[in-house]
Amino acid sequence: MQVTYWLEHAWLGTHVEPGVALTVADERITEVRTGVDAPPAGATVLRGLTLPGLANAHSHAFHRALRGTVQVGTGTFWTWREFMYGVAQKLTPDTYFDLARAVYAEMALAGITAVGEFHYLHHQPGGAPYDNPNAMGEALIAAADAAGIRITLLDTVYLHGGLNRNGYAPLAGPQTRFGDGTADRWYERWSQLKGGGHATIGAALHSVRAFSASDGYTAFARWTDGVPTHIHLSEQPAENEACVAVHGRTPARLLADSGFWKPTATAVHATHLTGEDIGLIGRAGSTVCMCPTTERDLADGIGPAPRLKAAGSPLSLGSDSHAVIDLFEEARAMELNERLRTRARGHWTAAQLLRAATEDGHASLGRPDAGRLEPGAAADFTTIALDSVRTAGPMPRLGAETAVFAATGADVTSTVVGGRQIVRDGRHQLVEDVPAALAAAIAAVR
Ligand SMILES: [Zn+2]
Repeated sequence: MQVTYWLEHAWLGTHVEPGVALTVADERITEVRTGVDAPPAGATVLRGLTLPGLANAHSHAFHRALRGTVQVGTGTFWTWREFMYGVAQKLTPDTYFDLARAVYAEMALAGITAVGEFHYLHHQPGGAPYDNPNAMGEALIAAADAAGIRITLLDTVYLHGGLNRNGYAPLAGPQTRFGDGTADRWYERWSQLKGGGHATIGAALHSVRAFSASDGYTAFARWTDGVPTHIHLSEQPAENEACVAVHGRTPARLLADSGFWKPTATAVHATHLTGEDIGLIGRAGSTVCMCPTTERDLADGIGPAPRLKAAGSPLSLGSDSHAVIDLFEEARAMELNERLRTRARGHWTAAQLLRAATEDGHASLGRPDAGRLEPGAAADFTTIALDSVRTAGPMPRLGAETAVFAATGADVTSTVVGGRQIVRDGRHQLVEDVPAALAAAIAAVR
């Protein structure tokens, strides 16, 4: 079936084009016609600015249950982690489906058409597998389908409870749900996961804190060849110090020596890197996923995004802990953090920031065919109002600057995934009351 969308204004990667007709068939854009001043008969009209669908390249869906709660009082990254483990203890495949469906619906409402779910909550409390060992991962895949968005399930190897100067600690307490015992057993379970349709199967190492050299980096690299592979990297200085003490190398160097850095690899955070680390990741063409709203929430620091970009790394963006879910905020935070740090403006253009939020994010999730409004690309796009209280005023040709530096997820009026309109007039078409769904799902795991 062929459908036509008429876009009042469209972001075509370099400029805003007024009056664009997009023809969609079999979930792909088949034609992009410019100079179409009025909607063709039968076309769905999208007023405002239409952008390629946003890619949320790093998510832990269950962290959404911590919003607000973890802002009371003080604390550190590590005390925050204790709260997070408390929620992790309570989830079942059914309650996780409900929570993730609501969170992914919130993402669709914010213009996100694909999520990279960094998933390590594999087993029952205590560590015994469910009858279906992939019950939790399959619940996440089903939740994305129910919310109408695409998912790359970054199924995660998590074998150790932590790394300190004395070496690796065993999984303890809530962490026992995360572990498969050995990398081989992880592979056995992982290879049963099925992608297709809206789902792509990727892989992840949680961090160098949770995977040691003796666990088999070489085997992991072989198993995941050609697959998107992500890792949390150097989010906290303590990880670097322990890694240097035990391995005599930084986490980025340890991973380089293990063959981890490839164009299909993504480093998440990459906050505390040496100059050598930046060169290793950049020369390999690996992506770096910045999560600025989480990094500021957890007081991690500001990663060296401009230097990574200069070294050759594409940048992507993720809402990670979901302190907020708003890719426009992530995009502008990357630039504004640099302004504060350097007291200089103009590190990225709005076009470059949009590319991180779209094309480069989708590529890091194993979808190189998404993130552009062009024939052959996935028919995934989202529309923001240019007449809201936040976006009214600027000329439409400044739509990219308006989107990145002023819009919020609340300005999204339409989200289309695979040609199907999931959000229409700001309302989710599959999840009737998203706030109520969030409230109920979070109350169930409180
Ligand atoms: Zn994370």
